[in-house]
Amino acid sequence: MTQAPEYRKLPKVDQLLDDPACRSWIAAHGREPVVDAVRDALSSARATIARGEPCPPSDAILASVEQRLADEGRPSLRPVINASGVIIHTNLGRAPLSDDAIRAMAEMARGYSNLEFDLVSGERGSRYAHCGKLLAGLTGAEDGIVVNNNAAALLLVLRTLAAGREIVISRGQLIEIGGGVRIPEIMQECGITLVEVGTTNRTYTRDFERAITERTAALMIVHRSNFRISGYTCDPPIAELAELARRRGVLLLDDVGSGTLLDTAPYGLGHEPMVQERVAAGADVVCFSGDKLLGGPQAGYIAGRAALIKQMKQSPLLRALRVDKVTLAGIEATLRHYRRGDAAQRIPIWRAIAASVGDVEQRARAWQARLGADDPRLRVIEAASPIGGGALPELTLPTRALAIRARDPDALAGALRLADPPVVARVDDDQVVLDPRTVLPGEDDALLAALQAQLRADP
Ligand SMILES: *Cc1c(COP(=O)(O)O)cnc(C)c1O
Repeated sequence: MTQAPEYRKLPKVDQLLDDPACRSWIAAHGREPVVDAVRDALSSARATIARGEPCPPSDAILASVEQRLADEGRPSLRPVINASGVIIHTNLGRAPLSDDAIRAMAEMARGYSNLEFDLVSGERGSRYAHCGKLLAGLTGAEDGIVVNNNAAALLLVLRTLAAGREIVISRGQLIEIGGGVRIPEIMQECGITLVEVGTTNRTYTRDFERAITERTAALMIVHRSNFRISGYTCDPPIAELAELARRRGVLLLDDVGSGTLLDTAPYGLGHEPMVQERVAAGADVVCFSGDKLLGGPQAGYIAGRAALIKQMKQSPLLRALRVDKVTLAGIEATLRHYRRGDAAQRIPIWRAIAASVGDVEQRARAWQARLGADDPRLRVIEAASPIGGGALPELTLPTRALAIRARDPDALAGALRLADPPVVARVDDDQVVLDPRTVLPGEDDALLAALQAQLRADP
């Protein structure tokens, strides 16, 4: 069969570019992207003909140009609706920010600021002055400093306070943080000799004591935030290690991982280490993440003794780890929630944690009602919302979720991810599960529009 006549029906590039639709797209997107889209659309039309099909009509080719322009113009990094129920989802950008933090960041992005400028003296100031006092006040530490993330905080602490010397740490705490970052490798990077003591399950204060030499810079505690050792276990109490460190003239460093300023226990989560407690118990330096339970922008916080923080501020490494003005503004606004005492009401991850099962169920039922109360594919089920963020897998909250039975649940979840905005759901056995706990206020309409489209497509 000959296809040549079909190829001859294909419009020319210039012909298409002259079309009024293309001319309006050129005005909106610029010439270059439209030319590329036209070429792509024509080459896919050629492929259609090569398969033995007729040449697509001009308006179909133009529609394909328009689709390509829309796809190309969409930002690569964009907001998604998190219906997975994982509250601190690392792959979905961890903590959504409070309105105050968003406002502060937008304002800071817009113009100039006193980032490193002392308004009283008119001289150079320090970017670390903006949050240091606030952080100290909230944690009870003498001073504080903020860097890019907690991994960076660890790097700065270790490099500044222990380079070329020894750190004593329990074998049960030599963890991989995530993304392949391992505590022993960070130590190696900093030229520190790691002295492992105790066993995987049990380590005592006397193990630390025996390992201290004149080369020891510090004892270190790392919170086992992403796994649990249970059964016959023992970790020395932090107060005992603090007393030992003081007596022997070495430092006590504490990586609490997520770190929280609010007690998690009243929310039914068990007790996560609180920064204030660790400082009070005698840690010289405590470091923690800004975008896990703290609920702010990505950052690493270091709270500790003033003399040690001062050393870190003088480190040349700090320059490479420093946070920008927009992040700093978000951090300050986030910390002010804790200072005012409205963190649990205003910080989105705490609102998600604090939402009662009744509240969540009401929302799941409202979704069900709007999608069709008599649709046999829809049910409201009991489920669990994981805290996430590398937190303990068993750290979950009871929840209610909307479950959708589908012939191919993976395909349905995949189609929801391609919605605009994308919706990320969980697949459980033969159903797609959507947890209202992590769907932010104001996202319901977009979520339901995406669901409606898919439910209609999958009768
Ligand atoms: C998450 C975590 C880190 C790393 O924090 P980032 O802010 O992600 O860099 C370090 N230590 C522990 C124990 C953690 O849980």
